Amino acid sequence: AKTWILKKYFEGFPKESNFELREVDLPEPKDGEVLVEALYISLDPYQRGFTERFIKEGDVQYGGQVAKVIQSKNKAFPVGCNVFVHSGWRTHTLSDGSDLTKIPSNWPKDLPLSLALGAIGMPGLTALYGLEEVLQIKPSETVLVNAAAGAVGAVVGQICKIKGCKVVGSAGSDAKVAYLKELGFDEAFNYKTVSSLEEALKAASPDGYDCYFENVAGPFFTAALSQMKKEGRIAVCGAIAVYNDTTPQTCPYPHKTMLVNHIKMEGFSVWKWKHKDEESLQRLLTWMKEGKLKAKEVVTVGFENTPAAFLRMLRGNDIGKHIVKV
Ligand code: NDP
Repeated sequence: AKTWILKKYFEGFPKESNFELREVDLPEPKDGEVLVEALYISLDPYQRGFTERFIKEGDVQYGGQVAKVIQSKNKAFPVGCNVFVHSGWRTHTLSDGSDLTKIPSNWPKDLPLSLALGAIGMPGLTALYGLEEVLQIKPSETVLVNAAAGAVGAVVGQICKIKGCKVVGSAGSDAKVAYLKELGFDEAFNYKTVSSLEEALKAASPDGYDCYFENVAGPFFTAALSQMKKEGRIAVCGAIAVYNDTTPQTCPYPHKTMLVNHIKMEGFSVWKWKHKDEESLQRLLTWMKEGKLKAKEVVTVGFENTPAAFLRMLRGNDIGKHIVKV
C-alpha cells in the first residue's frame, strides 16, 4: 500500500516537495472491519486550507476518495461494494465502517463513479446547500456566481436554471466562458479581460443581483457588493483568491454598502447539512439522469502523480473537477 504524507506545511503556493510518498504494509481487517482500495482521489481547493488546520507534518494528506471494498469482515460492507471515505491520499484504508458512505445503489452503470467526488458528491452538495439553505433562491431571481466553471460553480449555475432563476457567471478564460454558455448560464464574462468588473457586472444584469454565491474574495467581492440589489443575499462559500496568501489581505470596508442596501451575508460549510446528504445526492443524481446537470472532469492517472495534480488544480486553469484515477 502507498500513502502521500504531508512532509512540510505549505508556505504560500504549495510545492511537490511538501509531500513524500511512503510504502506501508497492507493492513489486515479484524472482525467488524473492511479494507478498501482507492479508485479515485478527490482534489479540492479546501484541502489547501484544511491541511494546516487539521493535520500535522508526517500525517497522510487530507482528502476524500471513492474506493472499493476488497476484504470484508463487516456484513454492512460486502466485498465489491463502492464507498466514499475521507481517508486522505492513500491507496488502502482500513475501516470499521463508521466513516464509510455507500455510493447510492441506484448509481447508473454508465455514469463514472468519480462523479461521486464532483457534481454528485461534495462539490454538488455545496452548490445545492448554498443555493437552497443559505441563499434560499426563488424563481426569477438573479444569481451571480464566480469561479463559475469550477466544480462548485458549474453546478450552482445549472441548479439556478433548474429553479427558474437568471444566472450570471464569471470565469478566468474565454474557453471557460464558452463552457458556461454551453451549460445554460444566461450571461457569462471573463473577469480577467474586462476593463471594469463593475461595468461587466452591470452589463450582465442592469437591475443588479438578488443573490451572490461567493467563491473567490478579493477585488471581485468589492465589485460584486456594489451591484447587489436592496435586501440582497450573499453566501460565502469560498475565498480561493486568498488561500495562498502569506500575509492577510486588507479588505476594503463593506459596511456602508451593506448597511445602505440591507445586505445579508452568511458563510457556510457543506458539512452543516450532512443529515440531508442522502436525499440531496438522489436529487443531484436524478437531475444528471434527466440531462439537466452536466459535469466535466480533469483526470490525472496514477497515484504517484497526486501532488502534481493537486498543484495543477490549485493553479485553476483547467475546466472541470480534478480527480486522480488511482
Ligand atoms: P475548482 O478548483 O473546481 O475551481 C476553482 C476556480 O477558482 C479555478 O478554476 C479558478 O477559475 C478560480 N480562481 C479564482 N481565483 C483564483 C486564484 N487566485 N487561484 C486559483 N483559482 C482561482 O474549485 P471548487 O469549485 O471545488 O471550489 C470553489 C470554491 O468553493 C473554493 O473557494 C472552495 O474552497 C469552496 N468550497 C467551499 C465549500 C464549503 O463547504 N464552504 C466546499 C467546497 C468548496 P477562474 O479561471 O474562473 O479564475
